[in-house]
Amino acid sequence: MIKKIDHIAIAVHSIEEALQTYEGALGLELTDVKEVPERGVKAAFLPVGASEIELVEPITADSSIAKFLEKRGEGLHHVCFEVEDIEAALQDLAAKEVQLIDTQPRQGAHGRVAFIHPKSTHGVLMELIEKH
Ligand code: ZN
Repeated sequence: MIKKIDHIAIAVHSIEEALQTYEGALGLELTDVKEVPERGVKAAFLPVGASEIELVEPITADSSIAKFLEKRGEGLHHVCFEVEDIEAALQDLAAKEVQLIDTQPRQGAHGRVAFIHPKSTHGVLMELIEKH
């Protein structure tokens, strides 16, 4: 069902500041920055092999990333798996009684996505993506 890790998202207060570490110290290359106003975030993408590190910064005070930072500080926000068929994956997980945040996929920046509740994954928010 899972093809690969698509990206690992890290919640940060400032992408600009975080890039000093991820580009400057680790030597990763920034390839894309996108604002997703409906989610209240800005995201920066840095490929690592077939996967990417996604730095996520809140652009509105009421975004879920702003709340996450307030509660838990900077750090791992979610891991995203690429799947071939997101509907089939969600049906399969629901049948196995995995707790889903999204029972139906929604449109994300790079494809259709759905989130799995961290209660079902030993504490890490998981995302599934079917690339378009
Ligand atoms: Zn993601």
